[in-house]
Amino acid sequence: MTTPLFGQMMDMPLNVSALLAHAARYNGDAGIVSRRIEGDLHRYTWRDCERRAKQLAQALAALGVQRGERIATLAWNGYRHVEAYYGVAGYGAVCHTINPRLFCDQIAYIVSHADDSYVLFDTTFAALVDALAPQCPKVRGWIALTDEAHLPAMQTPVLSYETLLAAQDGEFDWPVLDELSASYLCYTSGTTGNPKGALYTHRSSVLHAFGAAMPDAMGLSTRDSVLPVVPMFHVNAWGIPHASALAGSKLVLPGKDLDGKSLYELMEAERVTFSAGVPTVWMGLLRHVKEIGAKFSSLERTIIGGSACPPAMLATFQQDYGVEVIHAWGMTEMSPLGTLSKLNFEQTQRPPEAQRKLLEKQGRAMFGVDMKIVGEDGHELPWDGVAFGDLHVRGPWVIDRYFRSDASPLVDGWFPTGDVATIDQDGFLNITDRSKDVIKSGGEWISSIDVENVAVAHPAVAEAACIACAHPKWTERPLLVVVLREGASVTREELLAFYQGKVAKWWIPDDVAFVDELPHTATGKLQKLKLRDQFRDHKLPGAVEGAA
Ligand code: ADP
Repeated sequence: MTTPLFGQMMDMPLNVSALLAHAARYNGDAGIVSRRIEGDLHRYTWRDCERRAKQLAQALAALGVQRGERIATLAWNGYRHVEAYYGVAGYGAVCHTINPRLFCDQIAYIVSHADDSYVLFDTTFAALVDALAPQCPKVRGWIALTDEAHLPAMQTPVLSYETLLAAQDGEFDWPVLDELSASYLCYTSGTTGNPKGALYTHRSSVLHAFGAAMPDAMGLSTRDSVLPVVPMFHVNAWGIPHASALAGSKLVLPGKDLDGKSLYELMEAERVTFSAGVPTVWMGLLRHVKEIGAKFSSLERTIIGGSACPPAMLATFQQDYGVEVIHAWGMTEMSPLGTLSKLNFEQTQRPPEAQRKLLEKQGRAMFGVDMKIVGEDGHELPWDGVAFGDLHVRGPWVIDRYFRSDASPLVDGWFPTGDVATIDQDGFLNITDRSKDVIKSGGEWISSIDVENVAVAHPAVAEAACIACAHPKWTERPLLVVVLREGASVTREELLAFYQGKVAKWWIPDDVAFVDELPHTATGKLQKLKLRDQFRDHKLPGAVEGAA
């Protein structure tokens, strides 16, 4: 047996504080612009951000916070939240970002499951904190992200963040932490059962930041002005607060106003070149830009993910506005980035239609993520763009178990994502469903995402969900549930006729139901289980019991 030869490099563990220290030292003048809750813009630099993050770390020490303790945030995208990301994790505690859009009981469950000792909150959530506090007796303190003058009237005794910082001088050396120690804690949105925690490490967060900044991912540089619409309470805003520090980009943070008008004005004013968010947000933005007949004067590219990006949206961005759309797939359990859709040199030489088809998919795996699709017997399926299978992943920023759970979810060392997908000869992933949402008709799978994409390409349709409905002959058949655009109309027959030639005949829904709104999770995803429940007794035309 041979002994491994060890390399002779410096022993410097990967710590997230190094990302901020780098930004402060080498791109210190690059700006961070935040829309505050009061509505005005706050401006400072990465250098200022590091100083205040250090003051926060000192304040945590003064409060007696120990390494590894969880410090939670309930906050919008803003400069104080960035300070919390780095101040908490850089100090060696764990920054636990909570989604304030969850129900109060769910948040209380998460706070106690995580055993959070302090909670930093934006003042918009004062009422929520008052409702939460009695249910969270182990929380030692609630810290309002504001100064004394703006402290809201509350039942809960609270501390002022600015007062805590003002007591510190910022003269602080970031500790060198074990790179495998915990950095951030994010809970899944819990569509079924209780939310589950994904606990990242300093190593995984830094490696993910490298991956996110790469040219075939976000492609971030010192020349970018970056606006994450994706909330910092959702999967670390897809890693943007880390990747933009690594890249030295300007950061633009939209606060609580995520409507089309507010976003558009901020993008234009701050010359935003890159943005990222879920399709719902872009729907609002595109509607506004169309209404006022404007163009994007600086926006070059945007990542769309979290749910499938409808091809119609991709086409509007690219053709009408000249904005590159990068369709991406990932999940909380993978920090979250997994695949991104960008063409390689050879693919850019193909006919436009072939290029478009590829860009509509979720793309190829980035370095750091290995993926495969497996069939029911657990065997890997071919990359032919046809075979559907359960998508499994592995890599240094993929969790191997949930926080405070001993059971490993892994299957042969791979994490089962719960998504069903195809992978084509180009290695491009196409998500067809969540495994619990699949429609199985006559033993064959129908992609509900593909069926929905056709519906939303119809000018009268604002949103659509395709769900399985029981059928005596085929077991399940697709039902399309549709929300119409304001003032628009289309009949069931017209909509079904619209499918002709766009999908396989047997994928065309058997029926259409028109509703005023669709149920969504706190992260904006369709709640199909709820919808299935709602339409449990729906009788499809022709689905007569006993008919065959
Ligand atoms: P995020 O919303 O940031 O991707 P979540 O953990 O909340 O992270 O949700 C992950 C799930 O969202 C995935 O497992 C997948 O079902 C769905 N999803 C994410 N991105 C896409 C996409 N581009 N297309 C289809 N589904 C997606």
